[in-house]
Amino acid sequence: MTTFEMERTLVRDAARTAGLLCLAVRDDMLGQPESMAKAGDEPVTIADFGAQAVILDAIARHCPEDGVYAEESAADYDALASELQRSHVVHYVGRAMGRNVSTDDIRRYLDHGRGVDSGRMWAIDPIDGTKGFLRGDQFAVAIGLLIESRLAVAALACPMMPFNSTQSEGEWGVVFVAVRGQGATVEPLQGGAARPLHVSGAQEMAKVRVVESVESRHTDHAFSAGVMAHASIGGETVRIDSQAKYGAVADGRAEVYIRHSPDRTRHERIWDHAAGALIILEAGGMATDLDGQPLDFGHGMRLAKNRGVLATNGLIHQALLGAIQHVEAQSGR
Ligand code: AMP
Ligand code: MG
Repeated sequence: MTTFEMERTLVRDAARTAGLLCLAVRDDMLGQPESMAKAGDEPVTIADFGAQAVILDAIARHCPEDGVYAEESAADYDALASELQRSHVVHYVGRAMGRNVSTDDIRRYLDHGRGVDSGRMWAIDPIDGTKGFLRGDQFAVAIGLLIESRLAVAALACPMMPFNSTQSEGEWGVVFVAVRGQGATVEPLQGGAARPLHVSGAQEMAKVRVVESVESRHTDHAFSAGVMAHASIGGETVRIDSQAKYGAVADGRAEVYIRHSPDRTRHERIWDHAAGALIILEAGGMATDLDGQPLDFGHGMRLAKNRGVLATNGLIHQALLGAIQHVEAQSGR
């Protein structure tokens, strides 16, 4: 049996380096990074390109044969970034790697493994929650390794999340890491000892807490409110960007993450869920779609066989699925 020691170190270090790069970009831009608009009106920044470049450089060095599904591309780097912005990416990536790199190196890193079909595929979102990153709120660097379409290793850096949920000051930022069958941990982004991750044991609906997207274009807030009402959920609902939501449930800071796109024809992208799903599973929780089907990562860059996402501490999963069914039946789905 492989222990994935090399991959575990790779994802943790790459997520950390990419997360720190994002923070450096934001600090240098005095908290107001500028964005460019991609197709579909989704924002992208020089930090998205920089973070993807450092992650894929690490994968190219350690696992050169593997295939990659990653959100950003060399084509967008060329088409959307100005010459000045491209040079900024070169600067931040060079600084993160501690060596000189060129614009051509960046293009090569960005597209490394694209189109390669392998039994080992990486799902990468260099900045998940770019809208949160731009607002100064939560965002995540997400890296997941799929082996024969099954989640194997994952890391999620959340640079805006405190190490302890009760912590109000001090250094923020965490890295969640999981390996299938070996559990999940969380450690400070700036370095320090890891602790094991466990979902909460809460089952009393009056105390159950929920996390969902900030963006009403990404999730149907009225739908989740209906589900919570039907399930008599009484705890707080917190809206946060990115897969930090999976981290929050995996670390027992909430019990439910629910996602149902207002665009009912849309299938989720795998890099928005791969890392988070393994982390929650290895922390003892559950992640399925809204029908209770396991998330199926075997259909390219989309979760083509799934509808929405429900991630919980496991204990209340069935109750939530029941409430979802009820709310959908009422709305005439
Ligand atoms: P979140 O931060 O949880 O709101 O999710 C951010 C992710 O939402 C991005 O990485 C996008 O891939 C994804 N996204 C973009 N448009 C939509 C949409 N219409 N429905 C659901 N997710 C979307
Ligand atoms: Mg994303």
